[in-house]
Amino acid sequence: DHVAPSPLLAGLNTEQGAAVTLPPEHALILAGAGSGKTRVLTTRIAWLLQTGQVTPGGILAVTFTNKAAKEMMTRLSSMLPINVRGMWIGTFHGLCNRFLRAHHKLANLPQTFQILDTQDQLSAIKRLCKQFNVDDERYPPKQIQYFISGCKEDGQRPGDVVARDEEARKKVELYALYEEQCQREGVVDFGELMLRSFEVLRDNDPVREHYQRRFRHILIDEFQDTNRLQYAWIKMFSTPPLEGLTPAGNAVFAVGDDDQSIYAFRGARVGNMADFVREFNVRHQIKLEQNYRSCSNILDSANELISHNSHRLGKNLRTDAGAGEPVRVFEATSDFAEAQWMVDEMKQLARKDVPKAEMAVLYRSNAQSRVVETALFNAGLPYRVYGGLRFFERAEIKHALAYLRLLENPNDDTSFLRVVNFPPRGIGARSIEQLQDVARSAGCSLHDAVSAVTGRAGVAIGAFVAKLDVLRERSEGMTLSEIIELVIDHSGLVDHYRAEREGQDRVENLEELVSAAKSFVGIEGFGRDAVARTVDASGQPLTQSPASQGFDASLPVLDEPLAPDADTGETMSPLAAFLTHAALESGDNQAQAGQDAVQLMTVHAAKGLEFDCVFITGMEEGLFPHENSMSDRDGLEEERRLMYVAITRARKRLYLSHSQTRMLHGQTRYNMKSRFFDELPEACLKWLTPQQPAWGVPSGAGGGGGQWQNGRRSFGAPPVLQPAWSPGFNEKGDPKGLGQTAPEPDRGTDIRAGQAVFHNKFGEGKVLAIEGAGADARAQVSFTRHGVKWLALSVAKLTPIP
Ligand code: ATP
Ligand code: MG
Repeated sequence: DHVAPSPLLAGLNTEQGAAVTLPPEHALILAGAGSGKTRVLTTRIAWLLQTGQVTPGGILAVTFTNKAAKEMMTRLSSMLPINVRGMWIGTFHGLCNRFLRAHHKLANLPQTFQILDTQDQLSAIKRLCKQFNVDDERYPPKQIQYFISGCKEDGQRPGDVVARDEEARKKVELYALYEEQCQREGVVDFGELMLRSFEVLRDNDPVREHYQRRFRHILIDEFQDTNRLQYAWIKMFSTPPLEGLTPAGNAVFAVGDDDQSIYAFRGARVGNMADFVREFNVRHQIKLEQNYRSCSNILDSANELISHNSHRLGKNLRTDAGAGEPVRVFEATSDFAEAQWMVDEMKQLARKDVPKAEMAVLYRSNAQSRVVETALFNAGLPYRVYGGLRFFERAEIKHALAYLRLLENPNDDTSFLRVVNFPPRGIGARSIEQLQDVARSAGCSLHDAVSAVTGRAGVAIGAFVAKLDVLRERSEGMTLSEIIELVIDHSGLVDHYRAEREGQDRVENLEELVSAAKSFVGIEGFGRDAVARTVDASGQPLTQSPASQGFDASLPVLDEPLAPDADTGETMSPLAAFLTHAALESGDNQAQAGQDAVQLMTVHAAKGLEFDCVFITGMEEGLFPHENSMSDRDGLEEERRLMYVAITRARKRLYLSHSQTRMLHGQTRYNMKSRFFDELPEACLKWLTPQQPAWGVPSGAGGGGGQWQNGRRSFGAPPVLQPAWSPGFNEKGDPKGLGQTAPEPDRGTDIRAGQAVFHNKFGEGKVLAIEGAGADARAQVSFTRHGVKWLALSVAKLTPIP
């Protein structure tokens, strides 16, 4: 029975080798980041195939992203001469799709069923609500959508939901109607892919048994992030709980790390690990404790940080890699300075022959990428944004830009078509065709053809054009950022995304467009020598290099004249210049496929990946940890796991940076550095900027009076630097170490640090710090529901709560 040693096992440590060669029974590999879980899972597949224990068709492997699935196939085909195409390796959604196509009759679906993405789903629900005259104030479509998706994630059909009140009954009724509509139209949403394939397996014994016999080995990576339905789906493929009765049954091999569970907000259940061990009677549990990814300064930092979480399953990680470089910490005066420092550091790394693809920039939310992108772009460093589009290519940004273009040029038909029915305003494809026909035969733009379209279509499109005209009129005399605010509000874009289940990120991106405009001064030069001039949050101009630097000379040249007209001196409107800037930054300058490029992504998208050098940016209270999650302990622990994931992506060099000021969502914020800094071992850190002395005067990188004076000019009250005590929050979110020092400034008010206060808009909070005096006095307040904010005391009405 002894299986001959395989060269595949060479180089694995004892535990890894044991995990790879486990007998065909259920197993759980629980191990920390970088311990080789994914490598073990992949090697096990190769080993099972090579030793003839299974054929490619007998493998079902679930990964978390398509990227991970592709990587796994690539690795497998490099280990073994096999055809990986026939193997069932993919994401849950991908595999469910494949399953439903194969069993569409049983699933009662046309084989060509269409998949609704989140946005399509919402449009479908809206249509439905209209048809049945649902009061959308009482039952907002987004809420219905949230309700339906939640039910499906819990495996519930309308008949399974217990409705306790009128409102719940109405929602269930709509859920049922929505199902009928989807069924009639032959479409399925994401949740339905999972649920429908689960039901086919549950209700059809022969099919289920077929797959149970076929898939001898079921392997799941990132098991800690599975939700209830996904777990139930996996159970369908496995033979019933064994109790030693079916040694010929199949084997589920689950791999995970409770410390990296970062999708609770989408229903992920770490509890699935314990359930799995119990329900599957798992006899083989292996822990991997050797980390092969990171140097010990990085690993110790990760271990120390995560030790602040409670309810952990408990694992140790060690490394033989040596201390390596210290973790470098940088404090910038502005987000621009932060990005600029990062770019300079990257250039130095590049000089030391670090490939750009081994440099990654991680951030907590997508909107943060814009400043980084601009800095990289201006430095001529190619970059690629993962798990999301580059800022100016994101759908919501393109929609907003389309409105802006139409303000500049009503005859821009592409932009017209992009937004004529977005947000949806009931203009159908037929009406648009009619309009296009008229425009074609009259040889004019869509805008100019509107008056010739008759009937209901004419009225609806006419209203859209009228709206544009009003916006154009109102925008006269406005600054660029005011125009953009006007457009994103009055186009309906913000309302549209705000109501969407996962639209928060898009709203933030739209607000970020306002930030972009505020820092935008103009464009100089022509073509590839064009330079976008920008200023940082304090109004300081930033040095910028030509866009062409470092780029492939074969890139298309922008022909538009960007300089003032030589005769008349006329220059582009700020809006036109800004749109040009947007065009410059999108499209062709994206790193070519295969080109060595810096990697940009959110921490969520970085799960499972690794890089030599990692920059974690925006390490500030309210950003990371995110303000939405700071008020409760579970939220904070999830943020800490996210930070753990971020740190453990780095092999050799880790950089953490934060900034004193940041322009985000159209506002300048003064953030304190993240509490996570206090949870890292001091011995592993190297502060690149002096830490501020207690209650000190501004110190630190490139700071100094000049910029702040400048700030006074641009922003009114001077952004006095925060006191130097580090945020030092304890678990309840109370600041510690407050009030031990600093004379209270004279402000003529009785608001003081440590005090509970009430604010009309932000509700209850606690004062963290007071800065400045007289008219300049400002308070930093941590609000229970809105996170940390700086408020000018002369304006903000704060009522002390006894
Ligand atoms: P994560 O939790 O981040 O998903 P992981 O546990 O899946 O991490 P892997 O990505 O499989 O870890 O491995 C981390 C790195 O360590 C990879 O570069 C991998 O090739 C390497 N590695 C794993 N095991 C060994 C080993 N025995 N010898 C040398 N390198 C190894
Ligand atoms: Mg992994």
